[in-house]
Amino acid sequence: MLKIENVRVSYNGIDAVHGVSLEVSEGEAVALLGPNGAGKSSTLKAIVGAVASTGRIEFDGGVYRRQPDALARAGLMLVPEGRHLFKSMTAHENIQVGESARRGRSGPSVDDIYELFPALVPLRDRASWALSGGEQQMVAVGRALAGGPRMLLLDEPSMGLAPLVISDMYKSLAQIRDSVTILCVEQNTQAALKLCQRAYVMANGEIQLEATAAELAGQKRLMDSYMGRK
Ligand code: ATP
Repeated sequence: MLKIENVRVSYNGIDAVHGVSLEVSEGEAVALLGPNGAGKSSTLKAIVGAVASTGRIEFDGGVYRRQPDALARAGLMLVPEGRHLFKSMTAHENIQVGESARRGRSGPSVDDIYELFPALVPLRDRASWALSGGEQQMVAVGRALAGGPRMLLLDEPSMGLAPLVISDMYKSLAQIRDSVTILCVEQNTQAALKLCQRAYVMANGEIQLEATAAELAGQKRLMDSYMGRK
């Protein structure tokens, strides 16, 4: 469904992503793991066209060159790091904005989204700036889902969240795994490997390793060394 080849991103002449290739088939949940600064977010931004890049980006049989609108229309949606909600809008209004981007695609109803994230029900009329980090992340995922995506790119859904909140977030993501293709960037390898069947490990702007989640789950020391943990 998504295939990227030899993608390169540089900022002010300094390479952040050095020719990354990866593939996600329809129905898969795939993790893109790696330490701080590995180039994971830059890879996602290159895919959606939010930064300049070279290389080939193919989604659902079409080739895209920095065309974020066209990709969104084709059903590829990014939930960015830091969530980027419309801060003065309520939780519910943010989800409605997502729904308005649906453009005829089928997908979960707003009610389905509250079912997926029941913690949002009593918060629906709260301004999103007044929500906790975990609640904001739920709204961000809910907003993307309301747009009826065929594929979601998730940029560190666990970032800044407490362990219990991460566990709840990932339980909700597991519920949508069968209906939407996922590429999930994470530093939290444990959470991501429970959700995903397969993973790429990135460091220094390059893919270092590709393996099944089961293979990586049994390689804690190797993963710790890639992730820069002692
Ligand atoms: P993190 O988990 O910290 O977000 P990451 O693996 O997603 O890490 P990127 O955010 O893609 O990594 O960053 C890759 C490299 O590119 C880093 O060295 C970072 O400092 C640099 N970089 C990222 N964005 C910019 C930018 N807008 N301008 C200049 N350098 C950037």
